[in-house]
Amino acid sequence: MRLILLGPVGSGKGTQAGLISARFGLPHISTGEIFRTNIKNNTELGKIAKSYIDNGELVPEELTNKLVADRLAQDDCKNGFILDGYPRNLSQAKFLETITDVDIALMIDLSEEKIIARLSSRRMCSKCSQPTSLDWMVDGKCEKCGGEVYIRDDDKPEVIKVRLQKQAVSQELIEFFKQKGVFNKIDAADDVESTYALVKNVLDNGAKNND
Ligand SMILES: [Zn+2]
Repeated sequence: MRLILLGPVGSGKGTQAGLISARFGLPHISTGEIFRTNIKNNTELGKIAKSYIDNGELVPEELTNKLVADRLAQDDCKNGFILDGYPRNLSQAKFLETITDVDIALMIDLSEEKIIARLSSRRMCSKCSQPTSLDWMVDGKCEKCGGEVYIRDDDKPEVIKVRLQKQAVSQELIEFFKQKGVFNKIDAADDVESTYALVKNVLDNGAKNND
């Protein structure tokens, strides 16, 4: 199964990708992970990518495309893959089309209101550096070590709104996959396993509800 996961930041897409990966035995591929691996292994493409990242510049699309093509050509992708965070736009989607077929493009959606509620309840522990949440904390402190907690700048509601706008899944990308007959969408549920049940239903039945 060649699966593309789409969805806004905070929808729990990464968590679902991890579950699908473990339960279907497919590699979970994200561009962030591809960059890190290539840089760590000091590959030719990794060296070029690093020079952009070190200068605080975006990695050019052509290079990102090459890295993705290179990753999908590896042995562990023979029986399929989960591509998370790529393609981001129509030109990447058109590139991807030249290197592989796609069975399902699944969007895991969540309303902006719920994403903000979810992300803004997140806290970081200043002592053990682990993430926690208002729901887990004990007496206003980290439930693991009792440390003081703080809010990451990224998790402040006004910053979350900007991130959501910047990283929204584009309508033209959705239309592209609809036209190919592989698009499907679910709304993330309140907990991970209920969301996974919806995801699994789509994966087991294919992209039949292509609306
Ligand atoms: Zn802690």
